[in-house]
Amino acid sequence: MPHHRSSTSPTTAPAEGENPFAGALVCVAGLGVSGPPVARALLAQGARVVVVDGRDDETTRAVAAELTEAGAEVLLGDTPLPEGCDLVVTSPGWRPDSPLLLRAAEAGVEVIGDVELAWRIKPADQVWLAITGTNGKTTTVRMLESILRADGRDALAVGNVGTPVIDAVRPDAEGHVYNVLAVELSSFQLHWSESLRPHAATVLNIAADHLDWHGGLDPYARAKGKVFAHGTVRVVNTADEWSVRLAEEDGDPHAPLVGLRLDTPRAGELGVVEDLLVDRAFVAEPHSSAEELATLADVRPAAPHNVANALAAAALARSIGAAADSIRVGLNAFVPEPHRIAHVAKVAGVDYVDDSKATNPHAAAASLNSYESVVWVAGGLLKGADVDDLVAEAAARLRGVVLIGADRARIREALEEHAPDVPVVEVEGPAADAPPEHTVMDVVVAEAAALAREGDTVLLAPAAASMDMFTNYPERGRFFSEAVHRRA
Ligand code: ADP
Repeated sequence: MPHHRSSTSPTTAPAEGENPFAGALVCVAGLGVSGPPVARALLAQGARVVVVDGRDDETTRAVAAELTEAGAEVLLGDTPLPEGCDLVVTSPGWRPDSPLLLRAAEAGVEVIGDVELAWRIKPADQVWLAITGTNGKTTTVRMLESILRADGRDALAVGNVGTPVIDAVRPDAEGHVYNVLAVELSSFQLHWSESLRPHAATVLNIAADHLDWHGGLDPYARAKGKVFAHGTVRVVNTADEWSVRLAEEDGDPHAPLVGLRLDTPRAGELGVVEDLLVDRAFVAEPHSSAEELATLADVRPAAPHNVANALAAAALARSIGAAADSIRVGLNAFVPEPHRIAHVAKVAGVDYVDDSKATNPHAAAASLNSYESVVWVAGGLLKGADVDDLVAEAAARLRGVVLIGADRARIREALEEHAPDVPVVEVEGPAADAPPEHTVMDVVVAEAAALAREGDTVLLAPAAASMDMFTNYPERGRFFSEAVHRRA
């Protein structure tokens, strides 16, 4: 039983001026990325905070010591749900069937994630523009931030990269709270959210990913659809079936619906006419007028999927009245994140491109689609994903393939079936007599160079996670570009 209750439950939206967290006992599950800032935010709200984490190693103990100093209680190792909790704020990655979360559900204690907490404590006048989807989130939130700043807004991109959402709803070290947030939301964070009401939101696309966690494609997609639930302007990618479906089926039917397409926009849409990005939604007369926002040359790289990202960012910015010219200026000022279709070097007439961030088949398909003739470097941990469609679609563009990683046999099988004439080389590790700085990527690059002809692109777009061979995808990309530079 809760041994203390504040006047309002922390589980309901507070009335103006009330602080439902003051005095409440809140359990923070997980001491990973979101846990510490969540605990600090709750302490600042006057809550009593117990943080639990199953790990009990040196790193967690160091973080635990800091939080204890800040006023939280920290329990490491195998811990049941602490007695008397009013609310659990879980790390988004914790599975719903984790013992502590199951226990909370049984006991009728509400479980929310970091984003829902942030929503409940944010200043009333702070505007959120939300972006979710399987691929392109980070790129799109960064484009949106750049556009909003070009428009003179006090805006910040928040989410998995950069500032956690929870830190952006409270004053920073200078006492500043941003007025507009471009919020990147994962399916996990949305799973653990209920009452978010961004001014406008988009689901960029849906492809199979994280299916083990959600228990299938439908629940994975539906988690993302929650972003549209409460009166939010619905920005949808008309080329993606799920994006449209979620907005129609899970969104508020009274909220505006804005389509995005890569060809001529209809009234109520943003699209592309020749080399122009055009708005026929946020204009005075959508049926008879259109406004030019930018040119394709303002989008870098101007690959189709990235133009879709730019249109999504533009629509979200336009939904709060950004000027047409700010779209162009903002897209121009945008600097792509590393390891996302990053041009590494041109060696002997062959371009080398690092898209190590293509950690699933859908992302790899988008980047393979951006080049005419490709030597494809692929493989790693497929996380159960199916690669047949990807390989069948890419077959005509493939000059050759270099395979690495644990699940390379699956990709080889798909290639044998759908691209039987394409040469395939498998690479296991660096040669035994290689210089010490040589990694497996030196062998990969040498094999790829041997397959490539002048004008081709050697594209690292693995369609798979990296952890079987590398620490993470940035390391995989870095080793690749270092090997390219050694070769150059
Ligand atoms: P996320 O934050 O969703 O992982 P990123 O912007 O980091 O998205 O891009 C991840 C990967 O997906 C990159 O490899 C990129 O080439 C690819 N990608 C980016 N945008 C799209 C899109 N709209 N559709 C398909 N793939 C995309």
